[in-house]
Amino acid sequence: MISLMINEIPILIEPKVHLRSRSMTLRLNLRRKMFTLTMPPFVSQKKVMAFLEKHEAWLYHQQTRLSEISDFSLEKNLTILGISYEIRRDLLRKKGVWAEDSILWIGGTREEDISILLIKYLKEVAHAFFTKTSTLYCTQFGLNFERISIRDSSTRWGSCSSRGTLSFSWRLVLTPLSVAQYVCAHEVSHLRHMDHSPLFWKLVEELCPQYKVLRKWLKQNGHTVVNIR
Ligand SMILES: [Zn+2]
Repeated sequence: MISLMINEIPILIEPKVHLRSRSMTLRLNLRRKMFTLTMPPFVSQKKVMAFLEKHEAWLYHQQTRLSEISDFSLEKNLTILGISYEIRRDLLRKKGVWAEDSILWIGGTREEDISILLIKYLKEVAHAFFTKTSTLYCTQFGLNFERISIRDSSTRWGSCSSRGTLSFSWRLVLTPLSVAQYVCAHEVSHLRHMDHSPLFWKLVEELCPQYKVLRKWLKQNGHTVVNIR
């Protein structure tokens, strides 16, 4: 393991020798919260250090990003579509996630599966929510969507394909309810106007009168839910 200090921040890098690699490659392993350096055999220590030095700015930037990531397994509470839940574990029940009143139960599982199970659950919640809300909005304007697709995009909140598929990031269920509703209104409006013309925004406003504030919220605070894994 190589450990570096950049601007007083410790950085861990795991070197991996690959017989077939031709050059050094740095990667960030989000799950393990560390870096890996893939390299060909017989690279001198001096070359490795020179390579890492060249990428110091990138390493530093990624490391500060890492420390902002919150791990689901450490969360004690979760607000889903505006309803807040206390997370509790029940080791005697079978593997799974279910809500009971204001408690979100996680059934008997290993520590490392918690995030995976919670994300699976949140995707199902997202699918149900966006199906219901899109149907409601479509009915108001006599529009139809083809299907709802739930994604794990951290750069796009939603999209609308020319075939009428509405896609949403599951992470939206962790934003305030009105924000998730705004993104839904936005994508449904694209079923009529495939652009961001004044006519498009007029339709969005009809479905979601306070859309400007919600759009701003997403721009300013969206990263808080993007960082959850
Ligand atoms: Zn759009």
